[in-house]
Amino acid sequence: MRIITLNIKFNFQNIEDYIYPVVLCDDKDMILVDCGYVGFLPMIENAFSAEGLEMKDLTKIIITHHDQDHMGSLRAIKEKYPHVSIISSREEKPFIAGEMKAIRLEQAEKLQETLPDEHKAFGQAFCEMLKRVEPCRVDMTVSGGEMFDWCGGCEIIDTSGHTPGHISLYLKEHNTIITGDAAVLEEGRLVVANPQYAFDLKKAEESLIKLMEYEAETYICYHGGIYKNR
Ligand SMILES: [Zn+2]
Repeated sequence: MRIITLNIKFNFQNIEDYIYPVVLCDDKDMILVDCGYVGFLPMIENAFSAEGLEMKDLTKIIITHHDQDHMGSLRAIKEKYPHVSIISSREEKPFIAGEMKAIRLEQAEKLQETLPDEHKAFGQAFCEMLKRVEPCRVDMTVSGGEMFDWCGGCEIIDTSGHTPGHISLYLKEHNTIITGDAAVLEEGRLVVANPQYAFDLKKAEESLIKLMEYEAETYICYHGGIYKNR
């Protein structure tokens, strides 16, 4: 049983950035938690190879929430590896499957109207990027509180707030939490992700506290990487 944190480096608007998708391995399953922006499939494949893993062995993908940096390459992965089963929360499913418009796109289009002229081109490019996210069918839904045997015991935690149905994972055997965007690591501290864009900020703050109360040994943040609790 292993938890492998992938470290994917990329450039956005000439700024170097990283994301940290996670792979959970046991003798039955290989599960990827979140999968990068649109076009990131080759980078994910490379990150797998660097760890001695192969994406063809993947059995499941868990999507913590429907933002483009977490599910942007989901459809491409599903097309290349159709046997992989896609899991999300019940609330996020309609957004991932394209039955409901992405919340960030709603926000970005609304914001676009208020932007000064010199920022409109950037705003427009951002909207176009969000529109390029292809929807993908979800095979299984969860709602929080479920316990699976993945990787020595995996509890689904409802951490709504950042989006309506955000989920995080608690890996019992490893005393590790995979936060998604319910907590991001900034300057050595776990904080709420982009509070100005939280779907429900109060809930997002409560979800962060909920994760802290686990007092897990390790928190793996999609943004910021590994935080050791001591
Ligand atoms: Zn994110």
